[in-house]
Amino acid sequence: MECIQRAAGAVVGSAVGDALGGPFEFGPQGAFSARFPTPGGGGEMCGGGGWDRGEATDDTQMAVLVAESLLEQKGLDLPDIFARFQRWAASEPKDIGLQTEDVLTNGMPWDLAAAIHFQVNRRAAGNGSLMRATTSAVYFAAAGRQATMDAARRIAALTHGDRAAWEGTAIFHELVRLLLDGHTDPLTTLDDILALVHPDHRGRYATVLSPDWHPDQATEFNGAVWPCLGSAVWALRTTTSFEDALCAAIDLGGDTDTVAAVTGAMAGAYYGLDAIPARWTEPLHVPLPGFGGRVLRLADLLHLANCLVKECRY
Ligand SMILES: [Mg+2]
Repeated sequence: MECIQRAAGAVVGSAVGDALGGPFEFGPQGAFSARFPTPGGGGEMCGGGGWDRGEATDDTQMAVLVAESLLEQKGLDLPDIFARFQRWAASEPKDIGLQTEDVLTNGMPWDLAAAIHFQVNRRAAGNGSLMRATTSAVYFAAAGRQATMDAARRIAALTHGDRAAWEGTAIFHELVRLLLDGHTDPLTTLDDILALVHPDHRGRYATVLSPDWHPDQATEFNGAVWPCLGSAVWALRTTTSFEDALCAAIDLGGDTDTVAAVTGAMAGAYYGLDAIPARWTEPLHVPLPGFGGRVLRLADLLHLANCLVKECRY
C-alpha cells in the first residue's frame, strides 16, 4: 500500500472516529452496538449530544490547527501552535478539555502556561494531548523514531505539564510512524518503543499496552492518557477491520470521541483510506472556530494529509 493511502487513512480515520464517537461521549458500555446491531447497516454517523451528524469535535479541530501550523511555518513552531490553540479556545468551541481551556486562557506565556497549571493542580495526565496528535505523527514520521517522539513530547507539553501525557503521545507518534512505514504488525514491537519511554512512566505504559490487558482492567476513567492509549491499541489488536475497530472503541463508553479518534488514526494507517466507509466520510466535517467560519470536509482533510506527507518527502 502507498504511504499516502496510509497517511490519509490516519488523518481521515481519526476524524471519522471522533465524529462517530462524539454523540456517545460519557455513555455506557455497549451503547453503540445496541443502537446499531447490524455491522455495516448504516446510520451510525448519527449526531446527537450537541453534535451535528458527521461533526468532528475538539480532538480533530486541534489536530487541524497543529497541521496548519506545521505546514505554514514549515516545521515545529511551538509559540505559533500555542497561539492558534488560544485563538480557537477564545472562540467558544462546542467542546474543550477543562485543563486545555485553563492552560490556553490563563494569560501565561506559551512556555510556562502548562507547567504552572501542573504545579498548582498536580493532575494533568488527561488524554487531551494524545487526542490531537495524528497530524503531527504523520508529519514527523519521516524524521525517524527519536525525532517524532521528541516532537510529540514538545507539542504535548504546550497544554499538559504532566510527563505521563508527553510519553503517551510520544508512544502514539511512534506507533503511527511504524504503521505508515508498512510494518504489518507494529503491535508486536511495543517493547522497543517502551525502551524509549521515560523510565518513570515505562511501567504504567507497559501494563496498558500488554497484549493481555483489557480496558476493563483500567484503573482510571479513559479520559486519562494511559487507558485511552491502551484501549485504542486493544481495539486495533482485537478486531480485523477499520469499522470493527471503531465499533469496539466506542462500545467501551466513557470518552468515546477521543478513544475512537486515537483508534481511528491507527486503524486508518493500518487498513488504509479505502477501508474507511464512504457513509462515514460523506457527512464528515470539521468546523474551526476562530478561523473565519471555515469548515473542512473530506477533500480538505485529504489535501492536508497529502501536504503533511509531501513536506516530509517520503
Ligand atoms: Mg472531543
